[in-house]
Amino acid sequence: TLHPQTFGEALAAHAQERPDQIALRFGDRVTDYAAFDRHADQIANGLAAKGYSKGDRIAYLGKNSDHAVELALGCARGGYVFVPVIWRLAAPEVDFITKDAGATILFVEEGFESVPFDGQKIVMEREFEAWRDAQSDSGVATQVTAQDPFLQLYTSGTTGMPKGVVLSHYNGTAMRPILQENDIYWYNADPGDTMILAMPYGHIAGVGSAAGAALAGQELIVHAEFDPALTIKDIRDYRVKWIFLVPAAIRVLLSHPDANDADFSSIKGLTYGASPIPLDLLKEGVERLGCEFAQLYGMTETYGTVVSLPPDDHRPGRERVMRSAGKPLPGVEIQIVDESLTPVPTGEIGEVLIKSPTTMLEYWNRPEENAKTLTGDGWLRTGDAGIVDEEGYLYIQDRIKDMIISGGENVYPAEVESALFGHDEVADVAVIGVPDEKWGETVKAVVVAKPGCTPSEDSIIGHARERIAGFKCPKSVDFIEALPRNPSGKILRRELRAPYWEGKERAVN
Ligand code: ATP
Ligand code: MG
Repeated sequence: TLHPQTFGEALAAHAQERPDQIALRFGDRVTDYAAFDRHADQIANGLAAKGYSKGDRIAYLGKNSDHAVELALGCARGGYVFVPVIWRLAAPEVDFITKDAGATILFVEEGFESVPFDGQKIVMEREFEAWRDAQSDSGVATQVTAQDPFLQLYTSGTTGMPKGVVLSHYNGTAMRPILQENDIYWYNADPGDTMILAMPYGHIAGVGSAAGAALAGQELIVHAEFDPALTIKDIRDYRVKWIFLVPAAIRVLLSHPDANDADFSSIKGLTYGASPIPLDLLKEGVERLGCEFAQLYGMTETYGTVVSLPPDDHRPGRERVMRSAGKPLPGVEIQIVDESLTPVPTGEIGEVLIKSPTTMLEYWNRPEENAKTLTGDGWLRTGDAGIVDEEGYLYIQDRIKDMIISGGENVYPAEVESALFGHDEVADVAVIGVPDEKWGETVKAVVVAKPGCTPSEDSIIGHARERIAGFKCPKSVDFIEALPRNPSGKILRRELRAPYWEGKERAVN
């Protein structure tokens, strides 16, 4: 088989081979591959008619929709760089991103059109279809190559300001032949396979999955946003084979009443990732949904997945590896290194480095970040701390930036948080380092109590003392109504830290 290296070529090939097969479903609106391909030409031609040319940034702000997917493929066809923005961001954040990208056109969903923007806006439900259909559907002459940029996605901003990650067509297409050759069946769709898109479009898990469906020739069922009842219903009605969910969404799904008589038997891969998953939640999911689970670890900078824990490692008896993120996919290498980028012995903790064909071209307009992150010999610094065991399984510990250095000892917040989660009266908890004259930093727990509970500081510290080493235990506890999280549900430890560090420098940064 030939493997297209650009998304535009892939779509054209599917339109040739299976013109009548459904490509996109959004509510009642159904689009087959022939129409999808024609629409991509029209969008590319329409942008050219407006004076845009190859390499220009085309921004989108809104929830998931079939039209938003068409827009991505229209950009791919014409060599434009698609910049989908997370709709949950506040107006100034959206403004920062569109300015940083240098976009002068914004396709925007109704309801978001009041965001500040210096340029032209096209409101999706009101104007998009009429504009698209008025454009020529003749073939696009622009030559698009595998190394040309396709997406510019902004990182979640968990550890700092979001950075624009420039991803090429090759970054998005390179893994498919490798997965096929190696028979990675849980992460490798066939043409015609149905998939639900439920995760937000501005993340690699959203737009990356949507583009991946067009690459594989799948039928993509687009949900505007994650909706547990609709997910359960559509999986049953359409015999869905694929879905990606973040751990928080799995929790919501399992607590929905419809989950009790859900039929997930059609699922070939329920993939999850983007943040650590509590083991109890994972076990409950595997047990109650009875379908194949596979974990994915990756980041915007690696076009998503580079490490995966396959379904076989979710079966009874594999509890030990179930806490890991899995092994590198074929074609991907990982390494654990110390601060001087020297590999550490097996089983020791360090920063995770990745070498992958999916590694980004660069951060947009960030020479310093590029120099820090891309080592020059093909390795990407992830900023994640991890351990690789003798069997090659990767255990993600935490963000390096969140690590606490207390009296020369390294403390990883996630380990302390797991210990505190076991406390009867703790609903949610984050652990941070606060300044200390003697130790440099000390460990503080920020706790959200369960409704009606008022746990004492002593009982929380005491709970930790029985479970983890003394230097890892919190020295103080703050109580708070709710933890600050970003739109992907990740705890913003830097926001919790900020008030304590005003005018002071942390050692880790
Ligand atoms: P920023 O780079 O702006 O701080 P971010 O790193 O949260 O934000 P993303 O690229 O969306 O932005 O997220 C990638 C990160 O998510 C990874 O570096 C890792 O810390 C975390 N992550 C992804 N998958 C997993 C997983 N399976 N288990 C644990 N953590 C994961
Ligand atoms: Mg990151």
